[in-house]
Amino acid sequence: MKLALFDGGRIGVVKDSEMVDVTSAVPDFSSGYAQNHWLRLCADFEELRESLEQAAATGPRLPIEQVTLDAPVLNPSKIVCAAANYDEHLAEMDPILTDAQRASAAWFLAFDVFLKAPSSIIGPGDDIELPDLPNAIHHECELVLVIGKTARNVDAADALDHVLGYTILIDVTVRGDGDRTRRKSYDTFCPVGPWLVTADEIGDPQQLDITLNVNGVSRQSVNTSTMKVPIDQMIAYASSVMTLHPGDLLTTGSPPGVGAINPGDRLHAHIEKIGAMQLGVVGPKG
Ligand code: MN
Repeated sequence: MKLALFDGGRIGVVKDSEMVDVTSAVPDFSSGYAQNHWLRLCADFEELRESLEQAAATGPRLPIEQVTLDAPVLNPSKIVCAAANYDEHLAEMDPILTDAQRASAAWFLAFDVFLKAPSSIIGPGDDIELPDLPNAIHHECELVLVIGKTARNVDAADALDHVLGYTILIDVTVRGDGDRTRRKSYDTFCPVGPWLVTADEIGDPQQLDITLNVNGVSRQSVNTSTMKVPIDQMIAYASSVMTLHPGDLLTTGSPPGVGAINPGDRLHAHIEKIGAMQLGVVGPKG
């Protein structure tokens, strides 16, 4: 199932190229005062699946172009990010490491997880707003998973049972010195979309092609089979540190091909079996 949020919090299922409004199938939905409805939906998806499917078969349909897609995540308690999860990305970072990063390369270039502020999330079709900084600001187009079942100290063998689904995340990043969390948490630095595809429709998440074009020119093109730490091990590791709650995001690290974005650029991100989103880039709004 392709689950979407649209038009300011309504819940949809994408069928063919249409959006079916299934908001009425979600218990106790009340716009504005019940923003946890999305987190409950993530937790209770299996119980609600049948009523969502019924609503998707009969609900009002709109052409996708006539709705405004929101990010298919709402109020996650955290965004957990993988660092250093593709060897070719590590190789391309080498020439642009700062002296301080090179001095601490043993940990800086090792796989680990860090946090990105949920307040940086924007929807597919929104603009990335670049802050007024002298540093280069890069795109990192990543496969991201959304947690469906609370995960604490799970084994890798059971880890994928805790995944509700997958979508696309662009981990916008200021290069240079400074803490990763700060460099990746500016407002608008986390486009997510276009919708969430439930795990049953994805099959093996380690066999997906990721592509990112900027102004029609290919920048990133990789298959998720080349991740260093696969998703099941990443969930197991992250859940040994912190409880993963329904609705939380775990993004799986940047493939190679990162590069600078500038005002006026158009980004086109695509992941196999998920779909695509396009984003603009604008300068500081002050
Ligand atoms: Mn990243």
